Amino acid sequence: MTSSVKRACGHCTLCCKVMAIEALAKPANSWCRNCRPGRGCAIYTERPGECEDFACLWLASDLLDERWKPSRSKLVLTTSEDGIEVRCDPGSPNAWRREPYAGDIRAWAAEGERNDMTVVVIAGQRLILVTPDREFDLGIVGPDERIVREIEGAKVVKEDD
Ligand code: SF4
Ligand code: SF4
Repeated sequence: MTSSVKRACGHCTLCCKVMAIEALAKPANSWCRNCRPGRGCAIYTERPGECEDFACLWLASDLLDERWKPSRSKLVLTTSEDGIEVRCDPGSPNAWRREPYAGDIRAWAAEGERNDMTVVVIAGQRLILVTPDREFDLGIVGPDERIVREIEGAKVVKEDD
């Protein structure tokens, strides 16, 4: 979508598939009509501001090594006000279960537990909360719902905004 000072998207175009783009009314998990997968954006100089401003965590941070490049991992990472969001390419909904990804995700979940940070995996419309020792499939989370990290026994509470 954009280029970084340190890294470049290169042939990766995965965010143009997994992210929703409000300005284009583009839903998440379907290719943007302007994307030439593996090649880039057909309207690059005129792309919406939200595309121009977007940088996934791999692009923005050298803490994630080359294995995490989205075109290779099939995972696009972003931060939210609650923590880390891991979006799977809908064609590879179990990509996050492979190593080294699953191990890193669990390590972040352990760190998140100490720092009140949430790690969620988004695979298609399903949202999975990852904790150090287990995962909670929260199903489809509506736009007016938010996840709270209050675990009641084997349940996680979903709350309306
Ligand atoms: S997912 Fe990241 S690396 Fe891939 S095109 Fe988007 S911003 Fe670039
Ligand atoms: S407008 Fe361009 S940069 Fe934005 S999602 Fe579509 S293809 Fe990607």
